Amino acid sequence: MKEGWEAIIGMEVHAQLATATKIFCGCSVEVGSEPNSNTCPVCLGLPGALPVLNWNAVVLGAKAALALGLEIQNESIFARKNYFYPDLPKGYQISQYDRPFSANGTLKLMTAERDHHGHAMEWKPISIHIQRMHLEEDAGKNVHEGLPETDKYSYIDLNRAGTPLAEIVTGPDFRSSWQAYDYVNHIRRVLQWVGASDADMEKGNLRCEANVSVRRVGGAEFNNKVELKNLNSVRFMQKAIEFEIERQIAAHETGEGVSQETRLWDEKKNETRLMRSKEDAHDYRYFPEPDLQPLAVSDEFIEAAKREMPELPDSMRERFIADYELSFADATQLTADRSMADFFETAARHSLNPRLAANWVLGEFSRELNHSTRPAAESLVSAEDLAELIKTIEAGSINNNQAKEVFAEMFATGKPVAQVIEEKGFEQVSDAGEIEKIIDQVIGNNEAQVTAFRSGNEKLFGFFVGQVMKASEGKANPKIVNELLRSKL
Ligand SMILES: [Zn+2]
Repeated sequence: MKEGWEAIIGMEVHAQLATATKIFCGCSVEVGSEPNSNTCPVCLGLPGALPVLNWNAVVLGAKAALALGLEIQNESIFARKNYFYPDLPKGYQISQYDRPFSANGTLKLMTAERDHHGHAMEWKPISIHIQRMHLEEDAGKNVHEGLPETDKYSYIDLNRAGTPLAEIVTGPDFRSSWQAYDYVNHIRRVLQWVGASDADMEKGNLRCEANVSVRRVGGAEFNNKVELKNLNSVRFMQKAIEFEIERQIAAHETGEGVSQETRLWDEKKNETRLMRSKEDAHDYRYFPEPDLQPLAVSDEFIEAAKREMPELPDSMRERFIADYELSFADATQLTADRSMADFFETAARHSLNPRLAANWVLGEFSRELNHSTRPAAESLVSAEDLAELIKTIEAGSINNNQAKEVFAEMFATGKPVAQVIEEKGFEQVSDAGEIEKIIDQVIGNNEAQVTAFRSGNEKLFGFFVGQVMKASEGKANPKIVNELLRSKL
């Protein structure tokens, strides 16, 4: 950003709540169905049809609100937001206005500016005020392509009309495009984590808008802001905000000034362009929806939702850093996805070697997952099996290249470690008599260590294991080695 200027950015995110059916009727929200097949009198807006609230949307809304640090209100009011648009058959959207479902949240997140290669520089915590998160229904879609004669006609598909949304609105708290970028990624991760939304921008179930203005550093005034829409990915959003900041600074400096307006991101030209000016702004004439009761949630409901909250990713990341001595970067990667984080933690606990568990989960396991399109939760190899493999490596019974080969086979087939090792011929020596001979040799050659061990230096046990493994060229069965060593020492 040009020196002497600062950006003031507020964000609005719409997240589709992960219900199976719509918010005010029983129609499916499945994507890809025949146009207008998932519709009924309620979501078609036919006269006399009455909305009935889908409670699951409230349950998921509560998870989203708590995950974002918001306070759930005991009573909120649905309101009609009136405007005319072809994909809005009722002539109004059921939303919430002055009494939203949840309000007043403080969200802490990590953010970093990026260098010109896009690499994160220093990660720092920022605190964001979330003004509100309310519940509302989505509109349908106008279809302008992919159907016959779209040069003559537009088509309307109302399958999406009535899909439940949570709209999350922040204060003007962001000072750079990268902060907004990190915020949207944070929201996406947290909503997926608690199961409130699939939060996939490519599929349109997470959409965002940014309000951007600039001012001289140190100024207290707010200049006219521009609302940015049509931001189809987090990266486009960041680019659009960055472009807009530079455009506005130039407009202020030349004295041309900035008008309050809505602009779209043109991803082909890499610039924002005017969509509508303030003169076209709607007056929505909100009023309470007469066909729905106020939405009441009890303290018990809120308390139960709090109890069911899983540990959130940022708290888990801090715990991984503290408990397992992982780096910020590794802990961040491990907590990018809940099933990955759980997989790592199980492997770390069972193997008693968190460092190696992190290396394997971020290395071989992630690599195999990327090739397979399977999420970590559906992996054939379990975290316990990975822990077994790590123990086998630590015991020195197979080397690192063998271990990678064994793991690839485990990942593809779900077979346990021992079976794969046997099939691959990385066979261990499990003959107790043969191992005993080696142990006797090792004990005979290391009298000083034997004496020290017997007088209480327990740490030396690992030394003996190492010597025996070395003498057997890594082939002795570590379990038998351990047992025999214990009895002989
Ligand atoms: Zn319906």
